[in-house]
Order: sequence, then C-alpha cells, then structure tokens
Amino acid sequence: MQNKFISDKIAIIGIGLIGASIALAIKHKKLPFTVAVYDRDEAVRAEARALSIGDSVADELAKAVVGAGLVIMAVPVGAMASVMQLAASHLSPGCVVTDTGSTKRSVIRDTIGLVPEGCHFIPGHPLAGTEFSGPGAGFPSLFEGRYWLILPNGADAEKVSALEDLLAGLGAMTEQMSADYHDRVLAITSHLPHLIAYTIVGTAVDLEQDLKNDVIRFSATGFRDFTRIAASDPTMWRDVFLNNDEAVLEMLQRFSEDLSYLQRAIRWKEGDKLFDMFTRTRDIRRSIIDAGQD
Ligand code: NAP
Repeated sequence: MQNKFISDKIAIIGIGLIGASIALAIKHKKLPFTVAVYDRDEAVRAEARALSIGDSVADELAKAVVGAGLVIMAVPVGAMASVMQLAASHLSPGCVVTDTGSTKRSVIRDTIGLVPEGCHFIPGHPLAGTEFSGPGAGFPSLFEGRYWLILPNGADAEKVSALEDLLAGLGAMTEQMSADYHDRVLAITSHLPHLIAYTIVGTAVDLEQDLKNDVIRFSATGFRDFTRIAASDPTMWRDVFLNNDEAVLEMLQRFSEDLSYLQRAIRWKEGDKLFDMFTRTRDIRRSIIDAGQD
C-alpha cells in the first residue's frame, strides 16, 4: 500500500487492546509507516516497550503526535475530548485524526470543536474486540475480515480514502455511515447484549452462597458465554452506556416488551409462540455465519 497521509508517522494514543493491535498489525503487515505510541499510564508504557509495540513509546502525548500524518485515539470514549485537547496544539496542519470509540455521536459532539483548523477529523469504530484489555491483549490479526465503520462527517474525500486504505491494509473492511445510525445499530448489536450479560452475571453474583457456587461449578455454555462478555473492561463499558444512553434506552424498551411477550407465553403455556420466536432467531444466527462474521 502507498502512504497518502502528509507523513509516514502514525501516532496511537491509548495502548490497550485496540491501540496495541493496530500497532502490531502495522508492523506484522509491513505497512510503510513508523508508529509512535503513548499511554498516560507509565506501567502500560513499560509493558508496551517490553512487548515492542510500536517503533517508539513516547512519555508525553505531544512527542507522540508531533509530525504525525495520522493520529489514532484509542482511549475510552469519555477520554477522547481530553486527549484531543492535549494534542491539538501539537498537530501538524493537514494531519488526519481518527478514533476507535464504540459510541460516535458523543465523540463527535465532545471532540469536533477541539480539532484545529487544517486538520481532518474522521471518526471510526472497528467492529472487533475481545473481553481483554491492556497492551498484552493486543494481537495483529484482530481486524482481519472485520468491519471498520467510518463516519466521514463531511471530511475531505482524499483524506477519507487515505484512512480507508490504511484500514484495508490492516485487513479490515470499511463501511461509511452516519453517527446517528451507527449508535442505533451498535445499541442493539453490541451495547444491549453487554448490558444483558452484566445483568445476568450480576443476578448470579447476588444468589445465596450455595446456589452461587453451583452456578459456577455447573455453568453450561449459556451462562459461561455471558460471563465472558461480562468480564469486559468496566471503564470502557461505563463510558459506552453513559455516552449512548438514548439509543440504548430505546433498544432496552423494545427488549423489555419482547421479554414480557415471552414471559406471558411461558406463563400461559403458549408453546407455539415460543417455538415461532426461537425459529426466527435461529435464522439470524445462520445469516451471521453466512456473512463470515461469527
Ligand atoms: P483498553 O484496553 O482499556 O485501553 C485503553 C487505554 O487507554 C488504557 O491503557 C488507558 O489507560 C488509556 N487511557 C485512558 N485515558 C487516557 C488518556 N486520557 N490518555 C492516554 N491514555 C489513556 O481499551 P480498548 O479495549 O483498547 O478500547 C479503546 C477504545 O476502543 C475505546 O473507546 C473502546 O470503546 C473502543 N473499542 C473497544 C473494543 C473492545 O472490544 N475492547 C472494540 C472496538 C472499539 P488507563 O488504564 O490508565 O485508564
């Protein structure tokens, strides 16, 4: 691939699962960039050095972003604006700034006014992740075959294409959409499932001790899968729910109505209703497998 940014330096702010995976993928795929990474946490920076994440690990945010053609903010969504505030006066004119945050309306609302004139802000969101966090959780194939949504939001088409080329170089498939649409889709596909997982596991935690021990001992795949999702990073997910509240509450309302429908069907022994619903949901699983996204 060819570098279409103003320089071949990429700065990644936040060296967690996502930031580390981007840096590792750039190196693994031998893309023509040098990568400077920065994290506010000294222990995380030390771990990044030990794991050789990025070509350099900066001790100050300014040193990472100076001269960069692309700056990627891979911090929790509640921290995006403060990162942009610190970076703004050190950005080179013509550089592209993107983020990897799981909510988009809030990131745009909080950040866009802080981006200096002459820089191009193109929000993004990789639909790839695991329940692990920190630099050690990163791996270079994380984005392989996964969607990476970008929200050009009126940005320069050439800069958008430069970003899309890089993301394709990481193995991702890009798709453009609006922030409103993004937040509604993700509310149902990602945010609500996490909320349900946190709730189910929370309910189990509150059971009386003997029952709780046996839930853990005999956890069949159903509960075990929920515990995997509910082990996700608390800071990241707190920020997601606080920043996509409107769409999550809308989907939660719909979910509650459907849950009441099933509750009623169980109470009145309406097997046909249960069977019909479970047949329809099975088809969704097949479509996901057919689309290669399982
Ligand atoms: P992570 O593993 O928790 O890493 C985030 C890193 O950013 C942490 O080391 C954190 O340090 C650091 N950080 C926080 N505030 C900072 C600041 N102001 N300046 C510099 N560094 C800061 O998180 P992640 O999973 O990589 O997620 C990063 C972003 O990608 C989030 O916005 C998330 O919504 C999004 N995302 C995540 C996934 C996923 O499955 N994990 C998938 C797609 C998108 P501290 O530990 O000191 O806070």
